[in-house]
Amino acid sequence: MLKTLVKLSVMVLTVAMLFQPAFSGFDLGGMLEAGKDLTTAATLTDGQVKQLASEASRASDQANKVAPPSSPYAQRLAKLTTGMKIDGNVKPDIKVYLVRDVNAFAMADGTIRVFAGLMDQMTDDEVRYVIGHEIGHVSLGHSKKALQTAYMTSAARKAGSASGSGIAKLSDAALGDLAEKLVHAQYSQTHENEADQYALKLMKINKYDPKASVSALRKLEKMYGNDRSVFSSHPAPGDRADALEKAI
Ligand SMILES: [Zn+2]
Repeated sequence: MLKTLVKLSVMVLTVAMLFQPAFSGFDLGGMLEAGKDLTTAATLTDGQVKQLASEASRASDQANKVAPPSSPYAQRLAKLTTGMKIDGNVKPDIKVYLVRDVNAFAMADGTIRVFAGLMDQMTDDEVRYVIGHEIGHVSLGHSKKALQTAYMTSAARKAGSASGSGIAKLSDAALGDLAEKLVHAQYSQTHENEADQYALKLMKINKYDPKASVSALRKLEKMYGNDRSVFSSHPAPGDRADALEKAI
């Protein structure tokens, strides 16, 4: 359990779709509707991906405490994102979860959630780097790919028990499985580095201090170490900080 917790925390900035553990509030009916049947799994349209993503983020928002506009966290976030220039293909919806974990995630529909625990640890420019990194995952199609993968493997499992027409409707259990997969979705080393480079570009365009990207990752390294075995397929934060330092 502890290891799981540590691992989850360590995935900060490497996991773009991380729900809180509580799934009880999930409105699976909506996702069921969006999922329709197995035959569509291999060919999820952009519209379906976005719909699934927004169903998932709505469910996540129900399961977590979203900072109200009056919250100092929400006010700080609004202030530090005001006027932020981003490319046109992402329409980010950025909110804070009043959760202690040092974490953030993005969904394919542009949903970005930053955890209060992360804001407590980071300066404004460091939070901007995190947001830029998450927007990068959306803009570069990583979040879409992660959702497709999670959805398809989830549906595929269900296919084993499909009968008759061969169209397997996703059951609530299959959707629970999908949600579980989304929780543990991991981005490849390549995607992480791409999202970092995207964030760096965003920092420069907006005249934020690009070095904040490095210091943010150094903080994570300090918190969680640079243990490559823990990160397995992920680049450890120290390595990512080195790469960004070089790029600056
Ligand atoms: Zn990431």
